[in-house]
Amino acid sequence: VVKLKTALYTNNESLSIPDHAMIIATGKDVDDFLRKVSDSAIILHLNQYGLEFSDDPSSPEAIRGSFDLLKIKMMNSLMNDKEVFINGQGLRDDQINHLRKVALTAGVPAIRVDLPLNAPHPYFMRIPSITDRKEETGPFDIIGDIHGCFDETLNLLEALGYIIICYELDDELHFIVSHAQSRRVVFVGDFIDRGPYPVEVLKLVMDMCEQGQALSVVGNHDNKLRKYLSGQKVSETHGFGLTRNIIDQTPIEFRQKVLNFLSNLPSHLLLNNGDLVVTHAGCEERMHGKDSAKITSFCQYGLVTGEINEDNLPIRGDWAVDYYGKALVVHGHVPENEPMWNSQGNVVRIDTACAFGRQLTALRWPEIEFVSVPANAVYVQRVDIHPLASIEYDSPKGGPAI
Ligand code: MN
Repeated sequence: VVKLKTALYTNNESLSIPDHAMIIATGKDVDDFLRKVSDSAIILHLNQYGLEFSDDPSSPEAIRGSFDLLKIKMMNSLMNDKEVFINGQGLRDDQINHLRKVALTAGVPAIRVDLPLNAPHPYFMRIPSITDRKEETGPFDIIGDIHGCFDETLNLLEALGYIIICYELDDELHFIVSHAQSRRVVFVGDFIDRGPYPVEVLKLVMDMCEQGQALSVVGNHDNKLRKYLSGQKVSETHGFGLTRNIIDQTPIEFRQKVLNFLSNLPSHLLLNNGDLVVTHAGCEERMHGKDSAKITSFCQYGLVTGEINEDNLPIRGDWAVDYYGKALVVHGHVPENEPMWNSQGNVVRIDTACAFGRQLTALRWPEIEFVSVPANAVYVQRVDIHPLASIEYDSPKGGPAI
């Protein structure tokens, strides 16, 4: 795992340079090194601009003006998703740190490389982002928000043709899932909250991911559980109170395993040569296959305005209206009665409100066919959802149907 925020490389190490990173390099033959890393990146130098501010490029005005201009050029390039490197000669440490912070704020990993003065340039490798899985080809079954609806998840997997073997070992449930046509599942996240069996859902999902039978992104509810399990304070709203009561009764080893699993889930997945993006709430084209705190937040929450409506639900901006990318983006997060396409036909939402009593939906890819199973009960009511389940959920009766 590359630590993007603190990466600082010095003499004689081999470097791991994340894709899409901004590099600020100092030391010997900086431009040569940066060209080896990428022959198409824009390289900015402080000393390019001095004469625009003063006849004497070493005057304080010239240096100050040059730094401001360098920063503006860098930001422009980053905002336009251009690869930009900086030759850090003439920059002070505090200026380099400032530029790295600006890049991180723009959602771009920024690393500093101090090249050795009397040794050859270090060997380096480009590290693809964890969201870049272009080499993974389908066919996929992309499954919407599960929210603790374990029985419905098993029903849906069976409807999709998966064979599920469940066994108990050392008092713990284990699952082996397979498909005769080598199909795999991609989960859009939100495994817990509202529905009755968050632990069973997590066990199933974790086993499938571990066996390579599924890929998954992280949902905002999963992220909240991750925070809780790592000792942070979180609110009990939106069904988390129920999950917390259940999770608190599980063995510490299980909670540790869940924390580890959730901490390593990507914000989105760019799949099949870039034709398909799966994410929880949304993903603009400029974010595809990249990774940063800002991208992670967008992928989990979409475009949020910060306001709430009269039903106490967050008002969401619709990023998909302006999405013209070539990749089909499949996501959940927004509960709907049916799967919903944007008008360009390149974004589809597949959270069909199972925990609110409607249905659990998968999108088959590349076929573009929906497969849904109805909810067994209305676990939580919501005004804008029309349930297919006829019974209200009371309390767990005899555990999940396995
Ligand atoms: Mn959700």
